[in-house]
Amino acid sequence: MSALTIRNLKKTYGNGVEALKGIELTVEKGDFFALLGPNGAGKSTTIGIISSLVNKSSGKVSILGHDLDTERALAKQKIGVVPQEFNFGQFEKVFDIVVTQAGFYGIPASLARQRAEKYLRQLGLWDKRSNQARTLSGGMKRRLMIARALVHEPDLLILDEPTAGVDIELRRSMWDFLIGLNEEGRTIILTTHYLEEAESLCRNIAIIDHGQIVENTDMKSLLEKL
Ligand code: ADP
Ligand code: ADP
Repeated sequence: MSALTIRNLKKTYGNGVEALKGIELTVEKGDFFALLGPNGAGKSTTIGIISSLVNKSSGKVSILGHDLDTERALAKQKIGVVPQEFNFGQFEKVFDIVVTQAGFYGIPASLARQRAEKYLRQLGLWDKRSNQARTLSGGMKRRLMIARALVHEPDLLILDEPTAGVDIELRRSMWDFLIGLNEEGRTIILTTHYLEEAESLCRNIAIIDHGQIVENTDMKSLLEKL
């Protein structure tokens, strides 16, 4: 069973834009996978569909064997998503944001607080736990979203441009953190438009352009070709 299977996935937005024109993708369990492509290629749309934020037009998506059409609730338990935009309440406190998210997954309050502490510590945000989210720097907000996405300990973590707008130093430490998660056995998929980021982190890669997968290979073969 694969971590993610996408078959002939299509999306046409209400304004007529054909964002996805038949995506085919398989990501195996334990992989560290990059979806690379220029702006407008369809990366966020793909992530949006996988994370149930965007409705697909047609096609099949399954997450660890759970079809999104027929087993959506189970599929959602298995994934953590770090979207590109900061989508938490700006006046909410850091600790509460993570604990509240755990509640959505039915995690009991005491365990939720324990997990929130664990991930906020790992991401260097424990000192900021009582601060309102709006007071954090961009890099801290990004890390807060990662902590929030991990609180239900998903098998598959999906990050949409995780280091966009993050400075070099923090980027390195985020990379190290993601490598650690992958070494623990979590499957990681990230989107990026930096080949360097994909190269530093990922074993396998798909390149998306104009809503289609134009390349799908292991990183080593891709680099030999370039
Ligand atoms: P859906 O196919 O999910 O119904 P819509 O076409 O209704 O999507 O658009 C959803 C939202 O995205 C709307 O609020 C719309 O204004 C906004 N939107 C429209 N065009 C774009 C675009 N090119 N990029 C980002 N957001 C857009
Ligand atoms: P990427 O993440 O690779 O930059 P997107 O998935 O955001 O690409 O966008 C793919 C295409 O769909 C683009 O042409 C974009 O303008 C369009 N698009 C994205 N979101 C919406 C939306 N909500 N409504 C209409 N068009 C959209």
